Amino acid sequence: MNNEQLSEILECMAYALNSTDKLYHRFTPADVADAKRKLDKLIKHDMPKKPIFGTHKIIRSMGFFCPDCNLEVNQREHLYSCKCGQRLDWSE
Ligand SMILES: [Zn+2]
Repeated sequence: MNNEQLSEILECMAYALNSTDKLYHRFTPADVADAKRKLDKLIKHDMPKKPIFGTHKIIRSMGFFCPDCNLEVNQREHLYSCKCGQRLDWSE
């Protein structure tokens, strides 16, 4: 999730919390519901999950993979999955 998407979500949440504010009337209830779904996903991805150790399907090498999207990750470079944004837990 990039900053622009996050900013849109926060604007929608502000609308939901203060729907009498005319500034936010361009958002429909569907926009707010969509923002809530995105925020739930963002919160879910921010809870650290342990990478899965296994064999890469194509190159057949052993490594760690994101538990959400299966992207190959490594301890030195990835605190988050580059593909889905899942926070990774490298503790023993
Ligand atoms: Zn991922």
